[in-house]
Amino acid sequence: MAGNQVDLRSDTVTRPSAAMREAMAAAEVGDEQRGEDPTVNALQSRVAALLGKEAAVFLPSGTMCNEIALLVHCRPGDEVICDRTAHVITAEGGGPAALAGAMVCALDGEAGVYTPDQLADAVRSPSRYAPRSRLAVVEQTSNQGGGTIWPLETVEAVGEAARAHGLLLHMDGARLFNAVVESGVDAARYAAPCDSVWVDFSKGLGCPVGAVLAGSAAFIEAAWQWKQRLGGAMRQSGILAAACAYALDHHIARLAEDHASARRLADAVSAVGTLALDQPRVDSNLVFFDCAGTGLSAAALSDALRERGVLIGAMGRHRLRAVTHLDVDAAAVDAAGEALQAVAGG
Ligand SMILES: *Cc1c(COP(=O)(O)O)cnc(C)c1O
Repeated sequence: MAGNQVDLRSDTVTRPSAAMREAMAAAEVGDEQRGEDPTVNALQSRVAALLGKEAAVFLPSGTMCNEIALLVHCRPGDEVICDRTAHVITAEGGGPAALAGAMVCALDGEAGVYTPDQLADAVRSPSRYAPRSRLAVVEQTSNQGGGTIWPLETVEAVGEAARAHGLLLHMDGARLFNAVVESGVDAARYAAPCDSVWVDFSKGLGCPVGAVLAGSAAFIEAAWQWKQRLGGAMRQSGILAAACAYALDHHIARLAEDHASARRLADAVSAVGTLALDQPRVDSNLVFFDCAGTGLSAAALSDALRERGVLIGAMGRHRLRAVTHLDVDAAAVDAAGEALQAVAGG
């Protein structure tokens, strides 16, 4: 990190800590794609157990987890139902269309969370005219929704609605552990209604690379073929899996600190009269706010903040997103609050 820059652009900007690097250096390794990397195998088993699934596969990224899940669950022309803010729609290069050949039906949820009724209403009656409604996607936590936690009852009710209509349910669990830590609900309980689920290690958990996708043994067998086909099968990736195992041991409980920092930052945003929080309630580590009241565009405000050593990303004409993570402490959050006051205060 350059100087005392406070980087709130994403929880992906964290650097592996010295202890994490030591764990990586000490990893026992083998050829992953032959099933011979003991560190990868152990991570897969551990995450499968954590998520209450039969099997799991280590992948380079969360995006690959989502896209492989769609590839396994859907056939070209099938429809995937998700919130309109979902990462699979907004940030995967049109992957659902380009790779699985799936159509996407976008629901107008509340802060990224849709209801079982909205899902049921979107399911199409089987006919030769309509695409086959095949898969529902839940994003825990909802990123563009504002870090919103899907309540367990809603995940369960959406799972029931999906099953009642013959759909499968996939959970994009990029920040599932943030939800777990904040709510006290077990990861396996959130995952129980889902046919597939994954967790990211390169977000709040602070690893350089990696995500693990879990599901039934048959699902994971099919996922493995796509991993191979897409070039996601690796070799001595135990080096990377060791970082993930380290994060499971050391970086989960501390996510609560990121949530406290996000609330502190939200208070600082609220204190600036020209800024408006998207949501007064901050569920986890993401804080979205609007800067229309400053007369500046989000990009201009972001540039002005950068001059003061604070990096906050512009997400729209007047919308910005600040993300707390393990390389940001309370002093850094306070520095960000002061910079906001200085550039937008009045
Ligand atoms: C970051 C993110 C992804 C993609 O994960 P990568 O590991 O960056 O590919 C998917 N879904 C959500 C909600 C995310 O925030």
